[in-house]
Amino acid sequence: MNFRVVLVLAFSLLSPALRAERISLVGGTVINPADNKVLPNATVVIDGDKIERVAMGRQDAATLGKQIECVGKFILPGYVDTHIHFFQSGDLFTRPDGADLNSVRPYKDEVAWVKSHVNDVLARYLRCGITSVVDVGGPFWNFEVRKIANATQKAPRVAVAGPLISSVSREKLDLGDPPIVKIETPDQAREFVRKLAEQKPDLVKIWYIVDKDHPVESFRPIVRATIEESHAHKIRVAVHATELETARAAIEDGADVLVHSVTDKPVDEAFVKLLKDRHTILCPTLVVFERYGRTFSHQLNLTPEEKTWGNPEVIASLDVTKIPPDKLPDRIKTALAKPDEALDRIKKTYDVALPNLKKLEDAGITIAAGTDAGNIGTIHGPALFREFQLMKEAGLTPMQILQSTTANAAKLFGGDTGAHIGKIENGFFADLVVLNSNPVDDIANVSDIETMIKNGVVYPPNSILP
Ligand SMILES: [Zn+2]
Repeated sequence: MNFRVVLVLAFSLLSPALRAERISLVGGTVINPADNKVLPNATVVIDGDKIERVAMGRQDAATLGKQIECVGKFILPGYVDTHIHFFQSGDLFTRPDGADLNSVRPYKDEVAWVKSHVNDVLARYLRCGITSVVDVGGPFWNFEVRKIANATQKAPRVAVAGPLISSVSREKLDLGDPPIVKIETPDQAREFVRKLAEQKPDLVKIWYIVDKDHPVESFRPIVRATIEESHAHKIRVAVHATELETARAAIEDGADVLVHSVTDKPVDEAFVKLLKDRHTILCPTLVVFERYGRTFSHQLNLTPEEKTWGNPEVIASLDVTKIPPDKLPDRIKTALAKPDEALDRIKKTYDVALPNLKKLEDAGITIAAGTDAGNIGTIHGPALFREFQLMKEAGLTPMQILQSTTANAAKLFGGDTGAHIGKIENGFFADLVVLNSNPVDDIANVSDIETMIKNGVVYPPNSILP
């Protein structure tokens, strides 16, 4: 019996109260994207839930506790997905406001499924090496999810925003605890932020939707009031704003985080300078831009990681050809009839979003990786690996991508937890991924996971999912 098997057995005997203890990862290559450092033949000593030290060369075995052999392996901080939604499953029925399939599966059944699968979703993140996630908007129930995650071993750390403060309403999502709340006056905005503040949200989220009936300027007083009131409560504000002028207005008014790429126009120098001056964090969410169109037009391109580690029920639902044609909403019918147009629209979005990401990265803007998982076709957990592929297509280096999902993402996570994740340093949480192959050579190697460590507890990856 090799040592790792003994270790696993030891942990399972302690189960369900798995306990972190003193362990050392010996002889691996430590990759710390925060400062671009790659340390070969290093030892990471973990004491309880924290990293005690990172040392080079041979160590006194008496100080190491249980040793885990890592020669030839690569050790990274656990990944962070900074844009997900727990209230959405990623299946075909999860956004009736976008594609109403209530006649096939009532939305209340969908919500019940989501609520009964929280632990499944949490475990899938951990299986993918993701040790922290940020939910950037959902019902008040989100605060319950944060509580559940905090009390669950096989779960990432969770930061949450509450309901989205929006210029538009989404009645079809409102079963009593709506994820999106239409706010019409600055006073209403302040009152709503005060109500949110009682739940200690990690972020306040604004859904800044602009169309011909809702021009940028008309909602701006509400954006301003929301940000002022949130900042008065020391809460940062994340904004959904996908047009250049909407994003500019949000940042000018004090928003801290942009949760998507700008997709309508190339970003200009003034915008880049604004983000730099304000220390704005931007989360690109490239993967979600292809997934609605590809799902609806029956051209979904799930990666091997998604097919293996995504929830199988969610994935099975995404085949639109299984829905009786007379029950398909027009949006899906149109996409199915003209699949090339769907792909064309995705290409147009990437033709703007990818160069924009490269420009912001080159200018030194803090880019935090995120997927918008939970939206239709964007799979909780492994969607992050598709996001990395797209970041690579945009021209980011493997180290820049690793930075975006570790040290930079920790800044978006925020708070005391955010200050102790995303780096392999003394005193940081022992949230680590051990890989079989080098992600600096090829970013695709990030999913070649040998061992997962969360909060100082070691998991062979195949022990995580049922
Ligand atoms: Zn989102």
